[in-house]
Amino acid sequence: MERMTDELRRLTDDMFETMYAARGIGLAAPQVGREERLAVVDIEDNPIVVVNPQIVLADGSARGEEGCLSIPEVFGEVDRATRITVRALDRNGEPFELEATDLLARCLQHEIDHLHGKLFIDYLSFLKRRAALAKWESMKKDFPRNLRKVPANEIAGRHGEEAL
Ligand code: ZN
Repeated sequence: MERMTDELRRLTDDMFETMYAARGIGLAAPQVGREERLAVVDIEDNPIVVVNPQIVLADGSARGEEGCLSIPEVFGEVDRATRITVRALDRNGEPFELEATDLLARCLQHEIDHLHGKLFIDYLSFLKRRAALAKWESMKKDFPRNLRKVPANEIAGRHGEEAL
């Protein structure tokens, strides 16, 4: 993708909307059936668009639980760098660099993986991955669009199950 267009800006708006509706903190274009190398994240009311993101520096390592809007209700522990620098284009197609730590760093690594066709369960051990996939198989019918839908009565006060 060489440049941002109005159509792609609308796509990012739609992706934020989809992500908020699913109570997620990150969403990558392939999760909504698009091929662009583009993702949106929002942690603590700080919406960020990354286009063609590249991790240019990575430091530290920490294990943390992850979930994914594309495989709802499945969680697993993944090792990620704790501090990264990402180079990307923003919503207007302007280049920028972003330093991220902790949850934002984890979220960006998870979304950038999506752009390379990789899911967090690919990091799990064989047995854990198999268990996660079996759980997802059994629940798939409840998620027709492959994205988590949260019933309105569950939205209030739902914490600690952030999906990316
Ligand atoms: Zn995900």
